[in-house]
Amino acid sequence: MSNSRRLRRQTIVPSVLDQMTGHRMPGGCDDCSAFQSVEKQANGVYVLTVNHDGCCPFLRGVTR
Ligand SMILES: [Zn+2]
Repeated sequence: MSNSRRLRRQTIVPSVLDQMTGHRMPGGCDDCSAFQSVEKQANGVYVLTVNHDGCCPFLRGVTR
């Protein structure tokens, strides 16, 4: 990979994740009306969280 391609990829990916940070995005679970959120932990480190409904059967199965 050339230096210009590598630099372009490094600048595009963080900007998309930065745009998602702090927003609630619908989806993430087929069993409930979950939403997803992105949190920036550090430079280049992001955490995607799926927030399930309290009555989600999938979540109930995982947390037993
Ligand atoms: Zn769910």
